[in-house]
Amino acid sequence: MIPEIRFVADAMLQSLAKWIRLLGYDCAAGDLFHGRALLEKAVAENRWVLTRNRRLPEEMPHILLARAEIHLVASEQLPGQLRELVDRFALDPVAFRFTRCLVCNEPLFPTTKSQVADLLPPSVLETKDRFWRCHSCGRVFWQGSHVHRSIQQLDYWLKPP
Ligand SMILES: [Zn+2]
Repeated sequence: MIPEIRFVADAMLQSLAKWIRLLGYDCAAGDLFHGRALLEKAVAENRWVLTRNRRLPEEMPHILLARAEIHLVASEQLPGQLRELVDRFALDPVAFRFTRCLVCNEPLFPTTKSQVADLLPPSVLETKDRFWRCHSCGRVFWQGSHVHRSIQQLDYWLKPP
């Protein structure tokens, strides 16, 4: 199952976008997404705009503004920004973790060891049994130490006060 809500992050919020993807939510991001391009992407693909640019509404044509949904991110940095979004949009901080490629923002699909064997180092093949793949970039993911570190970081950041 893939969550329905989707975002596009302002070019200034790309590290926030990565953590949103880590939670499994669709968040487009890139250097091109500021000003008008940011709003056009949001409107065309039915995404919430995430920005810290308070002047964005003043600078944009009304016809575009009328169709865009904008969330002005109040927190200055991570992890407050991530907590803010989890609260504001009632994101599930656990259910969809690691279901999306952090690089491409595409959903990951389970794959078998035999299908990816020649792409992996022997130490991974010997110790891991579950693998996921991004159909866009071809990267293979498994539950390695970087995953455990990210999970610990998320749990620490998002733990209830
Ligand atoms: Zn990818």
